Amino acid sequence: MEVSKRYGGALAVDALDLDVRRGEIYAFLGKNGAGKTTTIRMLLGLIRPTGGHVEVLGKRVGPGTTDVFARVGYLVETATAYPNLTVRENLDIQRRLMGAPRAAVAEAIELMRLGENADRRAGVLSLGYKQRLALARALLHRPELLILDEPANGLDPAGIVEIRELLRSLTSERGVTVFMSSHILAEVAHLADRIGIVDKGRLLEEIDRAELRARERGHVRVGVSDPERAAGILADAGFAHVELADGHLRVFDAEERVSEIARVIVGAGIALTELAPAHEDLESYFLRVTGGVE
Ligand code: ATP
Repeated sequence: MEVSKRYGGALAVDALDLDVRRGEIYAFLGKNGAGKTTTIRMLLGLIRPTGGHVEVLGKRVGPGTTDVFARVGYLVETATAYPNLTVRENLDIQRRLMGAPRAAVAEAIELMRLGENADRRAGVLSLGYKQRLALARALLHRPELLILDEPANGLDPAGIVEIRELLRSLTSERGVTVFMSSHILAEVAHLADRIGIVDKGRLLEEIDRAELRARERGHVRVGVSDPERAAGILADAGFAHVELADGHLRVFDAEERVSEIARVIVGAGIALTELAPAHEDLESYFLRVTGGVE
């Protein structure tokens, strides 16, 4: 899909093109105002794109699209529930609205580990439990896809960890696909299978889990004229972990051997264009690419 949304003169979403794979957790990461909510609203058919279109579960979303949303669960605003009704009663109302079977309530309570709080009034729940209730509601009709706008908003670190574990078990046990937004990298770095970084309505970069781990781990970044040959030569010289990554090499566990890397490469007649220890905290990386800090 490629999609844009213009508000007056301002492009809130600018030719955004991304694909979420079935069964994965995809985190849509960007600062406030990056265009996340606008994108999610277009996905849900709540607002119309001014350019392009979106597809959800293989169906193009347009005016009047309804059937596909029977297979989608979503959470878009701060959770609201009837405060004077219990968790179970709140879920039962929603269940009836959705025409889901009676058993769906117990199932959602179980899934979101709400058992001990099922008969408490929603109004007295902690924020973390309110968020679980909202997720339980989104799951009542057993959706294949969950679209969540900042599901960890307002939660304390323990609540964030809980939501993370619940989402992970939903994908592994139920095969649910999750598309979620966040403005905090740490929230999604250990959860998402892939992260799309969005800024000013544009997708800057997509990073998968392996790539994230590599960036977290210290390594020496090596730019050379012939990366493939250089990788072989470094391996022969006893560098056990060498990776080829978009045109340059990453040599792991080699921070103490930088001059040796240079000697081996130059000795083989390969031009060395860059040689730098790289170890960047992911949060500062994210802030750097989105222009958050110097
Ligand atoms: P946040 O985390 O703060 O919700 P976001 O990434 O979800 O940020 P959006 O809410 O999608 O960002 O906003 C993207 C841009 O579009 C912002 O500059 C915002 O001011 C603008 N915008 C959003 N909704 C409207 C609207 N209804 N009318 C005009 N401009 C809007």
